[in-house]
Amino acid sequence: MWTWVLDSSGSFSVCSVKECLQKRFFSNLQVDYEWNNWCPKKVNFLIWRLIQDKIPTYAALARRNILLQDDTCKLCGEEVESALHLFASCRIAEQVWEFVSRWCQIQQVYALELKDLANIHKNNNGSQRWKKVVSMVTKAAIWVIWRSRNVAVFEGKQPCVNRMKEEIKMVGYMWLKSRVKNVNISWGEWCNFDLLSIGV
Ligand SMILES: [Zn+2]
Repeated sequence: MWTWVLDSSGSFSVCSVKECLQKRFFSNLQVDYEWNNWCPKKVNFLIWRLIQDKIPTYAALARRNILLQDDTCKLCGEEVESALHLFASCRIAEQVWEFVSRWCQIQQVYALELKDLANIHKNNNGSQRWKKVVSMVTKAAIWVIWRSRNVAVFEGKQPCVNRMKEEIKMVGYMWLKSRVKNVNISWGEWCNFDLLSIGV
């Protein structure tokens, strides 16, 4: 008789295959990353890679011996584009985080390490649901910084901080409306970060 050894019942299940693969491939990565299912997968992956410094910034490409004529950050044009610079200390990123902290009424965002960027919501007091919204907004901010960087690098367009701020509000609203059940929040409420109508 044939039995499936990966499942205690002896019967084949997709779940047992998935668990086995996850153990094999992901158990030794030890990346402390809290997945937020209110954000699209591609956004979670971006941040998961970011905290491991695996985003292809100019500094990361240089580390892989890819020769570049110019490795300055295309958002500010002032410093070498490392991940920590691009997402934390660049003056464009600083303005974005200042906006996020004011809008969400959270502590000023400081990131000494890349993983700090994924844990901003943990450093503030609030309910689990509120933290999930704040985590979603901070992920939206990282996503928008990366997109603006790519537009600057590949299309030569200068970043506009005001447009980035609007984009963060828009993608956050879109994710909330499309990915969270029974959410009935108006655009006006969202712009004021008034979360009463979503039970926060
Ligand atoms: Zn910069």
